[in-house]
Amino acid sequence: MTLPVETTLRSPEAYGLSRRVIDEMETAGVWPTPLNFELWLHYLGDPESALGREMQRMLGAREPFTEAVADMLAAEYLPRGRLTEEIRDAGRVLDRELSSVADAISRAHKSQSAYGQTLDKAATSIETAGDGAALKTIVGGLTTATRRIQRENETLEKKLDASTREVARLREHLEQVRRDAMTDALTNLANRKAFDEHLIAACEQAETTGEPLVLAVLDVDHFKRFNDTWGHQTGDQVLRYVASVIGRFGQAPRVAARYGGEEFALIFPREDARQVAIALEAIRKEIASRSLRRRSTNDELGAVTISAGFAVRQPGDTHTSLLERADSALYASKRAGRNRVTSAEALEQAA
Ligand code: GH3
Ligand code: MG
Ligand code: MG
Repeated sequence: MTLPVETTLRSPEAYGLSRRVIDEMETAGVWPTPLNFELWLHYLGDPESALGREMQRMLGAREPFTEAVADMLAAEYLPRGRLTEEIRDAGRVLDRELSSVADAISRAHKSQSAYGQTLDKAATSIETAGDGAALKTIVGGLTTATRRIQRENETLEKKLDASTREVARLREHLEQVRRDAMTDALTNLANRKAFDEHLIAACEQAETTGEPLVLAVLDVDHFKRFNDTWGHQTGDQVLRYVASVIGRFGQAPRVAARYGGEEFALIFPREDARQVAIALEAIRKEIASRSLRRRSTNDELGAVTISAGFAVRQPGDTHTSLLERADSALYASKRAGRNRVTSAEALEQAA
């Protein structure tokens, strides 16, 4: 889910909100440190959120807004804070599980060696035992000791089972947290962090195997105008729609990502320029040919268009230079009138 504030910060209201934040912080006598600014931005941007309500309460009660308070609020309410908190929690649970398993194992170890001593002693006693009654006592003692050790082994087994389950649950949860951290909340495509990692890995792979690699960047045309006309919520819907088309063409081993606000990227491992041009042209055509409607009012919005640029990785290209080349091709598409696909190689040859 995108926080409403994150959307506002990419809309015309962004500057107004930021100015209000500064004014209100000054009135409240709070320093505009980056963290305080972020907290106040979320508070004023969405006063009815959990953070907003907590801050209204604190300010109403004239509680001092100290650095410790800011840290606490950030850990509790800011998305980034929540993430680290979850990872920290998982670490704590894992610690606890590991130390309780270690305890159980060391207890079992002690009982085993005590049992060993009991057996040794019994062996010696049997050698010197005079009659049947003495033997009976020895065997009775052995039976009791054996039963105890069996019970303890069962307990240990149960404990290990429970721990294995808990650790598996934890691993799944962390995997989910990791996935969330790599996914763009608005479009569900890979986010920029994930994209950067994929691109670096794909470049390394291409470098070692010599296989081709193509990178494309796509940008919605005149999107600022669209937002100004229809509002950023409708703008967000359009981004979701554009992302769904790009995502459909970005199935693995391709990677589709939301690179920034209204910018997307596609990685094409082991594909050549011709295949990529076909895919990008299909995306461009599909988006341009669809007349959009606003969901809430059914207003006819017309079609949006996208421009794209792509670059085939050349020997010696790093992920940064590849991205720069694809970007130049995108800007060539923009300069040439938008709603088109340009290849960096064609551009470079023409120059
Ligand atoms: P161009 O054709 O040259 O790309 O023009 P443009 O208006 O698309 O480009 P520009 O970079 O000037 O503006 C991008 C706009 O995208 C600014 C902002 O209004 C909008 N935008 C960026 N991120 C988001 C978002 O998450 N949601 C919405 N609704 N709009 C966004
Ligand atoms: Mg744009
Ligand atoms: Mg842009």
